Amino acid sequence: MPAVRESALAVAVGVPALFVLLAILLNALAPASGAQPEAAVPDPMATPLVEESLMPIPDPVELGGPDTGSDAAGDSSMGMADPAGEDAMRAIGEVDRPASKAGKVPVSYSVKTSDPVAFITIDDGVHRPDDALAYVRSQQLPVTAFLTTWTVGSNATYFTDMTEWGSIQNHTVSHASFDKSSTNLSTEICKAQRILRKDFGSRPWMLRPPYGAGADRTDVKRTAQSCGINQIVMWDASVNRGKVVKARGDLLPGSIVLLHFRPELKSDLEATVRAIREAGLRPANLADYLTRPA
Ligand SMILES: [Zn+2]
Repeated sequence: MPAVRESALAVAVGVPALFVLLAILLNALAPASGAQPEAAVPDPMATPLVEESLMPIPDPVELGGPDTGSDAAGDSSMGMADPAGEDAMRAIGEVDRPASKAGKVPVSYSVKTSDPVAFITIDDGVHRPDDALAYVRSQQLPVTAFLTTWTVGSNATYFTDMTEWGSIQNHTVSHASFDKSSTNLSTEICKAQRILRKDFGSRPWMLRPPYGAGADRTDVKRTAQSCGINQIVMWDASVNRGKVVKARGDLLPGSIVLLHFRPELKSDLEATVRAIREAGLRPANLADYLTRPA
């Protein structure tokens, strides 16, 4: 009899305890399995919106050194504050690498100039807010638009108007990363050259790699060069939702600022112009400061 009572007791205690254990286990597993789909499901409209601004700016020391032919970007951070590294930071502006065996296409994170200028660049083309265009016109802002060609379609007039004081340049056909083995560099870069020439009447000569990936790669440079690109343009500051993030601590003469064609582009532009003026600089046309093909 005592044995029966004991086992009944064991069941009475053991079953609820099992449920509690199970509940704890499920709880622990839930966040892990719930976190995955967000990153895994690519949304073609959303993809270009995440993108370049998240790309770490390459280590300036690495940039100032010899061309190793390796991919851009270590994991150095935006807004780093290394007082001893100030000179190295300035080297970011001296990354022109003509005549390297990787090709004659230099990669620029900023422009080497002593003029008090900074450059506004806007990527992709997914959203085309009218108020942003009105602002650009009212300020006569020189804007370099790096367009992903699938966004152009029947919107060519918007981009032409947007770049009245600047230029339209190449940001590939589909925004595929150059670091993916499935990406066809010739299609992404050279087909975009043909499409943009047809849509806008002149062939681009600057390329911005999607996500900033693969800018230093030999095959990227060779392909770009083969179809008329002679400048790969990166950035040293980016603007998102009105917040200006500066890789070199401040905007400096020659800084290249990255924005995107987003619904809030007007306020991003206002924040950019404010930051440029606060740094004692003025917006200038990037095409006037980089060497175009002969
Ligand atoms: Zn992009």
